[in-house]
Amino acid sequence: MGKVTFTILRFDPEKDKKPHYQDYEVEIRRPGMMVLDGLNQIRWEQDGTLAYRRSCREGVCGSDALNINGVNRLGCITHLEDLKTPVVIQPLPSMPLIKDLIVDLNDFQDKFFLCKPFLIPKKPLPDLEQLQSPEDRRKLDGLYECILCASCSSSCPSYWADPEYLGPSALLNIWRFVVDSRDVGADERLQLLNDRHGVWRCHTILNCIEACPKGLNPTQAIGGLKKALVSAKF
Ligand code: SF4
Repeated sequence: MGKVTFTILRFDPEKDKKPHYQDYEVEIRRPGMMVLDGLNQIRWEQDGTLAYRRSCREGVCGSDALNINGVNRLGCITHLEDLKTPVVIQPLPSMPLIKDLIVDLNDFQDKFFLCKPFLIPKKPLPDLEQLQSPEDRRKLDGLYECILCASCSSSCPSYWADPEYLGPSALLNIWRFVVDSRDVGADERLQLLNDRHGVWRCHTILNCIEACPKGLNPTQAIGGLKKALVSAKF
């Protein structure tokens, strides 16, 4: 069924002074092959030193976010047949490089946890569940589905330019709790991001929307946060 060339950025911190590109030929063995299938073929049959992250293989865990032909995407749900060749695969931009296609996500994750990504409930707690109307529940659609793949933040020029900027992913996840009718931590959360490294650093460049493999809209969430801050009473 033919072959596709993968041009992959390689970097081994124990051997290389700087990253370089290496070409591999991937056999197309069945229709519907994904980029991750090609990477697995290389690692398992040609070059066991190639390093990349992967887990669920179905767009749920977010671990194989990569820059593929210049666009951030998940390798496991990106069809090879939709891509121009050679397929150029690089690690997520702007994240510190560890090895080959693996980047350090500690800073990205720290920013997520800074946002208190859990419900801060009303007290006293109810004896059973905290109920929510179907209408209020629907407000969380398009927010709770974030898989923390980092595609959005690493595609954002404001995130590249300002190492302290929380970034679209963290901000979308703050908005997810601010709009939750069961949560009482909105003011606490909003105060966290009311500075130049917070929500005001977003310049509505919109790369985050294009990059998100779950079809989410971090820019819209950031717009909601900006409006909430303008009318906040603290
Ligand atoms: S908002 Fe989308 S692109 Fe950003 S981390 Fe969540 S799932 Fe990934």
